[in-house]
Amino acid sequence: MACRKWYMGTNTKMYKTIADTNRFVSDLCTLTADIPREKFELFVIPSYTTLDQAGRNRDSRLLKLGAQNMCWEEQGQFTGEISPLMLREVGCDLVMIGHSERRHIFMETDEMERAKVRSALEHGFTALLCIGETEEEKAAGRTAEVLRRQLETGLRDVEIPQLNRVWVAYEPVWAIGVNGKPITIAYADEMLSAIREILCDIFGVSGEDVPIFYGGSVNPENAVPLSRCRDINGLFIGRSAWDAEKFNRLIRQVLESRMQEDSDACGRSHEQRKE
Ligand code: PEP
Repeated sequence: MACRKWYMGTNTKMYKTIADTNRFVSDLCTLTADIPREKFELFVIPSYTTLDQAGRNRDSRLLKLGAQNMCWEEQGQFTGEISPLMLREVGCDLVMIGHSERRHIFMETDEMERAKVRSALEHGFTALLCIGETEEEKAAGRTAEVLRRQLETGLRDVEIPQLNRVWVAYEPVWAIGVNGKPITIAYADEMLSAIREILCDIFGVSGEDVPIFYGGSVNPENAVPLSRCRDINGLFIGRSAWDAEKFNRLIRQVLESRMQEDSDACGRSHEQRKE
Protein backbone atom coordinates (compact mmCIF):
# COMPACT_ATOMS: atom_id res chain seq x y z
CA MET A 1 0.00 0.00 0.00
CA ALA A 2 2.82 2.40 0.84
CA CYS A 3 4.03 2.51 -2.79
CA ARG A 4 0.70 3.80 -4.08
CA LYS A 5 0.06 7.44 -4.85
CA TRP A 6 -0.52 9.55 -1.76
CA TYR A 7 -2.85 12.55 -1.58
CA MET A 8 -3.05 15.50 0.80
CA GLY A 9 -5.49 18.37 0.56
CA THR A 10 -7.44 20.95 2.42
CA ASN A 11 -10.87 22.54 2.30
CA THR A 12 -10.62 26.11 3.58
CA LYS A 13 -14.42 26.33 4.11
CA MET A 14 -15.75 29.92 4.44
CA TYR A 15 -12.37 31.27 5.52
CA LYS A 16 -9.69 33.19 3.61
CA THR A 17 -10.26 36.16 1.30
CA ILE A 18 -8.83 36.37 -2.23
CA ALA A 19 -5.60 37.90 -0.90
CA ASP A 20 -5.30 35.25 1.86
CA THR A 21 -5.90 32.41 -0.59
CA ASN A 22 -3.40 33.76 -3.12
CA ARG A 23 -0.73 33.93 -0.45
CA PHE A 24 -1.62 30.49 0.89
CA VAL A 25 -1.58 28.82 -2.51
CA SER A 26 1.64 30.42 -3.71
CA ASP A 27 3.42 29.76 -0.37
CA LEU A 28 2.29 26.14 -0.48
CA CYS A 29 3.59 25.74 -4.04
CA THR A 30 6.96 27.26 -3.11
CA LEU A 31 7.34 25.29 0.11
CA THR A 32 6.49 21.93 -1.47
CA ALA A 33 8.07 22.48 -4.91
CA ASP A 34 10.91 20.02 -4.23
CA ILE A 35 8.53 17.11 -3.49
CA PRO A 36 8.23 14.93 -6.63
CA ARG A 37 4.62 14.75 -7.80
CA GLU A 38 4.66 11.33 -9.51
CA LYS A 39 3.45 9.64 -6.34
CA PHE A 40 2.08 12.64 -4.47
CA GLU A 41 -0.85 14.92 -5.16
CA LEU A 42 -1.63 18.14 -3.33
CA PHE A 43 -4.97 19.94 -3.54
CA VAL A 44 -6.67 23.00 -2.10
CA ILE A 45 -10.42 23.65 -2.08
CA PRO A 46 -10.96 27.35 -1.38
CA SER A 47 -14.09 29.51 -1.64
CA TYR A 48 -15.56 30.30 -5.09
CA THR A 49 -14.51 33.96 -5.27
CA THR A 50 -10.85 33.03 -4.81
CA LEU A 51 -10.70 30.35 -7.51
CA ASP A 52 -9.95 32.55 -10.52
CA GLN A 53 -6.93 34.32 -9.04
CA ALA A 54 -5.72 31.28 -7.13
CA GLY A 55 -5.87 29.34 -10.42
CA ARG A 56 -3.58 31.90 -12.05
CA ASN A 57 -1.24 32.03 -9.05
CA ARG A 58 -0.64 28.35 -8.53
CA ASP A 59 1.61 26.06 -10.53
CA SER A 60 -0.90 23.49 -11.84
CA ARG A 61 1.82 20.81 -11.85
CA LEU A 62 2.20 21.25 -8.10
CA LEU A 63 -1.31 21.95 -6.90
CA LYS A 64 -4.83 20.99 -7.95
CA LEU A 65 -7.67 23.38 -7.18
CA GLY A 66 -11.19 22.38 -6.26
CA ALA A 67 -14.60 23.91 -5.66
CA GLN A 68 -16.52 23.29 -2.43
CA ASN A 69 -19.80 22.48 -4.17
CA MET A 70 -21.50 22.60 -7.58
CA CYS A 71 -25.01 22.55 -9.04
CA TRP A 72 -25.80 19.56 -11.25
CA GLU A 73 -27.28 21.81 -13.94
CA GLU A 74 -25.28 24.00 -16.34
CA GLN A 75 -27.66 26.96 -16.05
CA GLY A 76 -31.16 27.83 -14.98
CA GLN A 77 -33.27 29.17 -12.18
CA PHE A 78 -30.97 28.10 -9.34
CA THR A 79 -30.32 31.29 -7.40
CA GLY A 80 -27.18 31.13 -5.30
CA GLU A 81 -25.80 28.02 -6.99
CA ILE A 82 -22.67 27.66 -9.12
CA SER A 83 -22.59 25.95 -12.49
CA PRO A 84 -20.04 23.41 -13.79
CA LEU A 85 -19.44 25.76 -16.74
CA MET A 86 -18.52 28.57 -14.35
CA LEU A 87 -16.11 26.34 -12.46
CA ARG A 88 -14.52 25.13 -15.68
CA GLU A 89 -14.07 28.75 -16.76
CA VAL A 90 -11.91 29.47 -13.69
CA GLY A 91 -9.74 26.39 -14.25
CA CYS A 92 -11.03 24.18 -11.45
CA ASP A 93 -9.70 20.60 -11.45
CA LEU A 94 -12.01 18.99 -8.94
CA VAL A 95 -15.31 19.43 -7.16
CA MET A 96 -16.03 18.39 -3.59
CA ILE A 97 -19.49 16.88 -3.22
CA GLY A 98 -21.47 16.07 -0.10
CA HIS A 99 -19.26 17.63 2.57
CA SER A 100 -20.90 17.03 5.94
CA GLU A 101 -21.69 20.74 6.30
CA ARG A 102 -23.57 20.60 2.96
CA ARG A 103 -25.44 17.47 4.00
CA HIS A 104 -26.28 18.49 7.56
CA ILE A 105 -26.56 22.31 7.55
CA PHE A 106 -27.89 22.75 4.00
CA MET A 107 -29.86 19.49 3.95
CA GLU A 108 -28.42 18.00 0.79
CA THR A 109 -29.61 14.48 0.09
CA ASP A 110 -27.84 11.44 -1.33
CA GLU A 111 -29.84 11.91 -4.55
CA MET A 112 -28.52 15.47 -4.88
CA GLU A 113 -24.97 14.23 -4.36
CA ARG A 114 -25.54 11.58 -7.02
CA ALA A 115 -26.66 14.23 -9.56
CA LYS A 116 -23.65 16.39 -8.68
CA VAL A 117 -21.18 13.51 -9.03
CA ARG A 118 -22.62 12.65 -12.43
CA SER A 119 -22.49 16.26 -13.62
CA ALA A 120 -18.96 16.81 -12.27
CA LEU A 121 -17.69 13.75 -14.17
CA GLU A 122 -19.55 14.72 -17.35
CA HIS A 123 -17.88 18.14 -17.18
CA GLY A 124 -14.39 16.67 -16.85
CA PHE A 125 -13.79 17.28 -13.14
CA THR A 126 -12.53 14.87 -10.53
CA ALA A 127 -15.40 14.27 -8.09
CA LEU A 128 -14.44 14.12 -4.42
CA LEU A 129 -17.40 12.50 -2.66
CA CYS A 130 -17.45 13.01 1.12
CA ILE A 131 -19.24 10.46 3.26
CA GLY A 132 -19.53 9.81 6.97
CA GLU A 133 -21.88 8.94 9.78
CA THR A 134 -23.28 11.28 12.44
CA GLU A 135 -22.74 10.67 16.14
CA GLU A 136 -26.32 9.36 16.49
CA GLU A 137 -25.89 6.95 13.58
CA LYS A 138 -22.65 5.68 15.10
CA ALA A 139 -24.26 5.23 18.52
CA ALA A 140 -27.13 3.31 16.90
CA GLY A 141 -24.66 0.94 15.21
CA ARG A 142 -25.73 2.17 11.76
CA THR A 143 -22.37 3.33 10.42
CA ALA A 144 -21.85 0.53 7.88
CA GLU A 145 -25.38 0.94 6.54
CA VAL A 146 -24.98 4.73 6.22
CA LEU A 147 -21.64 4.48 4.41
CA ARG A 148 -23.05 1.88 2.02
CA ARG A 149 -26.10 4.02 1.24
CA GLN A 150 -24.02 7.16 0.69
CA LEU A 151 -21.65 5.31 -1.64
CA GLU A 152 -24.26 3.27 -3.52
CA THR A 153 -26.48 6.29 -4.16
CA GLY A 154 -23.76 8.92 -4.63
CA LEU A 155 -21.84 6.80 -7.14
CA ARG A 156 -24.83 5.12 -8.82
CA ASP A 157 -24.28 6.78 -12.22
CA VAL A 158 -20.50 6.36 -12.32
CA GLU A 159 -19.17 4.22 -15.18
CA ILE A 160 -16.03 2.15 -14.62
CA PRO A 161 -13.93 4.23 -17.11
CA GLN A 162 -14.79 7.35 -15.07
CA LEU A 163 -13.54 5.84 -11.82
CA ASN A 164 -10.06 7.30 -12.28
CA ARG A 165 -11.70 10.67 -11.58
CA VAL A 166 -13.49 9.64 -8.40
CA TRP A 167 -12.05 10.18 -4.93
CA VAL A 168 -13.82 9.32 -1.68
CA ALA A 169 -13.24 11.09 1.65
CA TYR A 170 -14.37 9.35 4.82
CA GLU A 171 -15.19 12.16 7.23
CA PRO A 172 -17.15 11.04 10.29
CA VAL A 173 -19.40 13.98 11.08
CA TRP A 174 -18.70 13.71 14.83
CA ALA A 175 -14.93 14.03 14.27
CA ILE A 176 -14.96 17.16 12.09
CA GLY A 177 -14.25 20.74 13.14
CA VAL A 178 -13.69 22.59 16.40
CA ASN A 179 -16.22 20.45 18.29
CA GLY A 180 -14.97 17.23 16.74
CA LYS A 181 -14.29 14.24 19.00
CA PRO A 182 -11.02 12.32 18.70
CA ILE A 183 -11.10 9.22 16.51
CA THR A 184 -9.14 6.09 17.32
CA ILE A 185 -6.82 4.75 14.65
CA ALA A 186 -8.47 1.33 14.99
CA TYR A 187 -11.92 2.78 14.25
CA ALA A 188 -10.65 4.78 11.25
CA ASP A 189 -8.85 1.70 9.96
CA GLU A 190 -11.98 -0.44 10.23
CA MET A 191 -14.21 2.11 8.49
CA LEU A 192 -11.71 2.80 5.69
CA SER A 193 -11.51 -0.94 5.00
CA ALA A 194 -15.32 -1.19 5.08
CA ILE A 195 -15.43 1.58 2.46
CA ARG A 196 -12.92 -0.28 0.29
CA GLU A 197 -15.10 -3.38 0.53
CA ILE A 198 -18.23 -1.45 -0.47
CA LEU A 199 -16.39 0.12 -3.43
CA CYS A 200 -15.33 -3.37 -4.56
CA ASP A 201 -18.91 -4.62 -4.14
CA ILE A 202 -20.09 -1.80 -6.41
CA PHE A 203 -17.29 -1.72 -8.98
CA GLY A 204 -15.59 -5.10 -8.68
CA VAL A 205 -11.77 -5.06 -8.72
CA SER A 206 -11.82 -1.47 -10.08
CA GLY A 207 -12.99 -0.41 -6.61
CA GLU A 208 -9.45 -1.18 -5.40
CA ASP A 209 -8.09 1.80 -7.32
CA VAL A 210 -10.41 4.50 -5.99
CA PRO A 211 -8.40 6.73 -3.64
CA ILE A 212 -9.90 6.88 -0.14
CA PHE A 213 -8.96 9.73 2.21
CA TYR A 214 -9.55 10.22 5.90
CA GLY A 215 -10.71 13.62 7.15
CA GLY A 216 -11.84 14.89 10.55
CA SER A 217 -9.52 16.72 12.97
CA VAL A 218 -6.31 15.45 11.39
CA ASN A 219 -3.42 17.05 13.27
CA PRO A 220 0.36 16.63 13.73
CA GLU A 221 -0.22 13.99 16.44
CA ASN A 222 -2.55 11.66 14.55
CA ALA A 223 -1.53 12.26 10.90
CA VAL A 224 1.22 9.62 10.77
CA PRO A 225 -0.70 6.87 12.60
CA LEU A 226 -3.77 7.56 10.41
CA SER A 227 -1.61 7.40 7.29
CA ARG A 228 -0.69 3.82 8.25
CA CYS A 229 -4.27 2.53 7.99
CA ARG A 230 -4.57 -0.36 5.54
CA ASP A 231 -6.96 1.19 3.04
CA ILE A 232 -6.03 4.85 3.15
CA ASN A 233 -4.64 6.81 0.21
CA GLY A 234 -4.59 10.30 1.60
CA LEU A 235 -5.50 12.83 4.27
CA PHE A 236 -8.13 15.54 3.87
CA ILE A 237 -7.48 18.26 6.39
CA GLY A 238 -9.24 21.37 7.67
CA ARG A 239 -7.86 23.60 10.41
CA SER A 240 -4.43 21.98 10.71
CA ALA A 241 -3.65 22.81 7.08
CA TRP A 242 -4.69 26.45 6.81
CA ASP A 243 -1.24 27.81 7.53
CA ALA A 244 1.08 26.98 4.62
CA GLU A 245 4.16 26.44 6.84
CA LYS A 246 2.28 24.11 9.18
CA PHE A 247 0.69 22.23 6.29
CA ASN A 248 4.09 21.83 4.65
CA ARG A 249 5.48 20.39 7.92
CA LEU A 250 2.54 17.98 8.17
CA ILE A 251 3.01 16.85 4.57
CA ARG A 252 6.71 16.17 5.12
CA GLN A 253 6.07 14.37 8.40
CA VAL A 254 3.68 11.96 6.66
CA LEU A 255 5.75 11.51 3.51
CA GLU A 256 8.90 10.79 5.53
CA SER A 257 7.08 8.16 7.55
CA ARG A 258 5.78 6.58 4.34
CA MET A 259 9.28 6.52 2.85
CA GLN A 260 10.55 4.85 6.00
CA GLU A 261 7.75 2.29 5.76
CA ASP A 262 8.67 1.59 2.12
CA SER A 263 12.32 1.08 2.91
CA ASP A 264 11.47 -1.19 5.89
CA ALA A 265 9.21 -3.25 3.59
CA CYS A 266 11.99 -3.47 0.96
CA GLY A 267 14.45 -4.54 3.67
CA ARG A 268 12.08 -7.24 4.89
CA SER A 269 11.49 -8.67 1.42
CA HIS A 270 15.28 -8.63 0.75
CA GLU A 271 15.83 -10.58 3.98
CA GLN A 272 13.09 -13.05 3.06
CA ARG A 273 14.67 -13.65 -0.38
CA LYS A 274 18.04 -14.42 1.29
CA GLU A 275 16.49 -17.03 3.60
C1 PEP B 1 -13.43 19.15 7.13
O1 PEP B 1 -14.19 20.07 7.40
O2 PEP B 1 -13.59 18.50 6.08
C2 PEP B 1 -12.34 18.85 8.05
C3 PEP B 1 -11.72 17.71 7.88
O3 PEP B 1 -12.08 19.76 9.03
P1 PEP B 1 -11.13 19.59 10.33
O4 PEP B 1 -9.85 18.93 9.89
O5 PEP B 1 -10.91 20.97 10.80
O6 PEP B 1 -11.87 18.73 11.28
